[in-house]
Amino acid sequence: MEFDTIAAISTPIGEGAIAIVRLSGDEAINIADNIYQGIGGKCLKDVASHTIHYGKIVDPKTSEIVEEVMVTVMKGPKTFTREDVIEINCHGGLVSVNRVLQLVLRSGARLAEPGEFTKRAFLNGRIDLSQAEAVMDLIRAKTDKAMNVAIGQMEGRLSKLVQKLRQEILEVVAHVEVNIDYPEYDDVEEMTHRLLNEKASYIRNELQKLLETAHQGKILREGLSTAIIGRPNVGKSSLLNSLVHENKAIVTDIPGTTRDVIEEYVNVRGVPLRLIDTAGIRETEDIVERIGVERSKKYLKEADLILLVLNASEPLTPEDEALLETVAGFDVIVIANKMDLPQKIDLERVRQLVPKGKMITTSLLKDEGIDELEEAIATMYFEGQVEGADLTYVSNSRHIALISQALQSIEDVLEGVELGTPIDIIQIDLTRTWELLGEIIGDTVQESLLDQLFSQFCLGK
Ligand code: GDP
Ligand code: ZN
Repeated sequence: MEFDTIAAISTPIGEGAIAIVRLSGDEAINIADNIYQGIGGKCLKDVASHTIHYGKIVDPKTSEIVEEVMVTVMKGPKTFTREDVIEINCHGGLVSVNRVLQLVLRSGARLAEPGEFTKRAFLNGRIDLSQAEAVMDLIRAKTDKAMNVAIGQMEGRLSKLVQKLRQEILEVVAHVEVNIDYPEYDDVEEMTHRLLNEKASYIRNELQKLLETAHQGKILREGLSTAIIGRPNVGKSSLLNSLVHENKAIVTDIPGTTRDVIEEYVNVRGVPLRLIDTAGIRETEDIVERIGVERSKKYLKEADLILLVLNASEPLTPEDEALLETVAGFDVIVIANKMDLPQKIDLERVRQLVPKGKMITTSLLKDEGIDELEEAIATMYFEGQVEGADLTYVSNSRHIALISQALQSIEDVLEGVELGTPIDIIQIDLTRTWELLGEIIGDTVQESLLDQLFSQFCLGK
């Protein structure tokens, strides 16, 4: 494949201070040489691959020195894009990085579109689609665990599993084809049904296991959207502050997306909590009061987790009871706060009202009960397996949708077997399963979907 040479500013993950101008393409080294002045007139085209060189970036028109840099030269195909790649490490802040980029562009490179480096890696066969998507997840990862999942996917864990399943399907298809082509034995149909039943059951189980991890993966990837509710003065702000103070608050500003929102996350034992409407709690204290009961129900539906705070030093009020009834059907943890004061609340009654919810007693004033609350959150969603780095989490909604569809079509295969449907009809569903799984790794994916996917990436990735 032939592509022009692209360039963009790319900031490495976790290192905000350094900025890199990255180039990829056939002309990358020539373009860099055009503006690079090495020690003793050294040219980058003469250096060994995968080496780093000190030098200056000079404007070829004015001979002005723009920046002192370290340049990494990496020749294809052993690079991320499989093309020649140059990385110019600048340290003089954004202004000089921008000037270096401008010089690179003037010397013949084109400004990369968001995700174009990753797209090239995909198109050049360096990574498959699920790995490319993992790059995007990695950039957005909120906690170490989310990052581990993304890294696992980038290393191709999901791809390998999907490939293995596809291979199995292919073998069954081949087997069935042979049986159809050589029907001289009477028991061929029966044999094939038995084989299909066995293989399709296995594939169904594997797909089901994958889907079970999907919910957890999605939480790790997107954060658990969490609403803190309760009457005025029960301790909502105190709870919010404890959660934020005890845990590293992660303020993310997702670059390269149109949303560009700043959201507040806290990392609770590896589970990223996205605190909804934090401003609302801080400013007006009470969402029910602020937006009314009907609207707050709708708002609660958008939450993955509700933390309902009660004042344990007072008897339950009708308003508490109404809130308890409202949240009974949701994932809820009831926090009976102010336990340092004489207890007046009827905790048995609370348990009756939210039989499925968990209950924690706290004194936020004395910093008691926060550990228990965090424990409750972690086990609620991960039941102690949050550390399961070997799980092949599926966290991407596109993957989840495809796996669900694949599962449906393998169920159709099994139903066909059960009903004794002719093999060549069942075969259609089997092939469909194979195709759907292929879309996860980009085997049968259309061009427009690709553009859509890669345009979600950050610039310079
Ligand atoms: P909010 O209106 O629900 O946000 O409640 P706040 O967090 O603002 O707390 C209301 C009042 O209760 C404040 O004066 C807090 O200091 C106090 N408070 C919060 N938690 C506790 C607690 O566990 N024990 C006691 N005694 N007071 C608390
Ligand atoms: Zn408050």
